[in-house]
Amino acid sequence: MTRILTDEQLDYSDVLFQPKRTTLNSRSEADVLREYAFRWYPKTLKACGIMAANMATTGTFEMNDALEKFNAITCLHKHYTAEQLVAYFKKPHPLTFICTGLKDNKDNLFKLLGENPHIDKLCVDIANGYIPNLLKFVKELRTRFPHILLMAGNVVTGDMTQDLILSGADIVKAGIGPGSVCITRSQTGVGRPQLSTVLEVSDAAHGVGGMICADGGCTGPGDVAKAFGAGADFVMLGGMLAGTDEAAGKRVERLVQTDFFEPDGKTLKTEKRLFKEFYGMSSQLAQQKHFGGMAKYRTTEGREKLIPYTGPVAHVMEDILGGVRSTMSYIGATKLKYIPKCTTFYRVNRQLNTVFANMKDID
Ligand code: 5GP
Repeated sequence: MTRILTDEQLDYSDVLFQPKRTTLNSRSEADVLREYAFRWYPKTLKACGIMAANMATTGTFEMNDALEKFNAITCLHKHYTAEQLVAYFKKPHPLTFICTGLKDNKDNLFKLLGENPHIDKLCVDIANGYIPNLLKFVKELRTRFPHILLMAGNVVTGDMTQDLILSGADIVKAGIGPGSVCITRSQTGVGRPQLSTVLEVSDAAHGVGGMICADGGCTGPGDVAKAFGAGADFVMLGGMLAGTDEAAGKRVERLVQTDFFEPDGKTLKTEKRLFKEFYGMSSQLAQQKHFGGMAKYRTTEGREKLIPYTGPVAHVMEDILGGVRSTMSYIGATKLKYIPKCTTFYRVNRQLNTVFANMKDID
């Protein structure tokens, strides 16, 4: 018989942090760097836990160059050629992952990893992390390349998380359907609210010595903090970084109409705004750009979007890390690693006051 799981399933917007007594007098005392030690990878890493998604728009060399200054990680998209990667890694990039799917050329990947031991962080990213070939590939990679930091996904449950870690993954990428340009949920009916995913998957991973990356669904610094609060070791961002100079989407200008208030009443104003193109990796646009069209058996599970232009990614990162530091000072977490220990969430039915949501700020 078909079962219905009745445990409440929550998103980031369903909770808020409970403030607590703290030893921090200022957010500047909060340390957002963490020293990571892994289940399989023999080295340690010092990073702030934020990752740029391996999407064609956000997983760029330019993004990596900028994020390194914040000790943030970039998962490069998989459309760079081996030659481009080798040339890029001539300079040390200790926080940079390369990426592959299951259908990409394995021989080329093995050659790249085998001949370039300093390229030692690999993300195996597929939409449905439950297919048996992923586990098989993770095992093969771990056997052939015991020295690499291996991240694999995506899944949303503890059982598959543990399988992946025990098969050789250091980090499991968690999230099916929460992404800002993802339409998996409407196309397939499959998915899980992201906070509940992170809670279960992180607990399962930590139980067997692994880590997780909460992938997708963050809409602001508060959501990033909530992902850490729910137990994520890393948080992956697409949309939040896609409006920046370092993202690869084209910059376009659009006329937009906004409501604003004149002294004698509300009026509509038309003004020029800058946007950047952003698209899901299984959107029609991505299939056309990177695979020369869409295979007949597939349906698109991503969409295209214009994201407001936000300038250099450094501004966005300062905003995110400022927000996370502030969360830490509210809940008494002196270090990034301690956030989950200091987290108690309130279940809420309204996170924000949205009364002015449609109004443009006027100074
Ligand atoms: P965001 O931070 O924009 O909410 O989510 C980014 C994540 O969305 C990516 O890391 C990836 O897991 C997921 N994603 C990217 N492109 C697509 C797509 O076309 N379809 C689906 N279902 N998910 C996508």
